[in-house]
Parts: sequence; structure tokens; C-alpha cells
Amino acid sequence: MNLRLSCNRICSKYAVKKLAAKYGGLYEAGHKRCTSCEIYLIWDEVHCPCCGCVLRAKPRNAKARSKLLEMVNQKNS
Ligand SMILES: [Zn+2]
Ligand SMILES: [Zn+2]
Repeated sequence: MNLRLSCNRICSKYAVKKLAAKYGGLYEAGHKRCTSCEIYLIWDEVHCPCCGCVLRAKPRNAKARSKLLEMVNQKNS
């Protein structure tokens, strides 16, 4: 039994060239990384179109996110 989702090479259609890193963070550019396929994708969905695993993406606005967490923590305390 294989629980690991495997790469079907569909991802290559959505792959981002590594050169894009030159222009700033790939995550910031809206790209996501599939750890299973080991590739950066231009893809809006949460899951990889190829293997179906969850894509890694940093939040667009890290500051807003930390502020939100701060507020939540204060509310709870
Ligand atoms: Zn793949
Ligand atoms: Zn994948």
C-alpha cells in the first residue's frame, strides 16, 4: 500500500522556471511549491494538480497575518 501521492508529471505544465526567483520570492509572485513533485507551480488551488498533495504557499501579507494572530491571542488571554 502506497499512501504517498505520486508525481504524474502533469505539474511540468504548470512549472515555474527557477529564473523567476531572480525577481523576488516565488511565493510572493503567486507561485506555490509542491514538496512531493519538488517543483514550483503557477496554480491557484490549494492542492497540486498533479499529485494532489497540499501546496506550500506563504501568506501574501505576513504582517497582517501576525497582527491578526496578535489580536486573537489578546482576546483569549
Ligand atoms: Zn508532479
Ligand atoms: Zn505535486
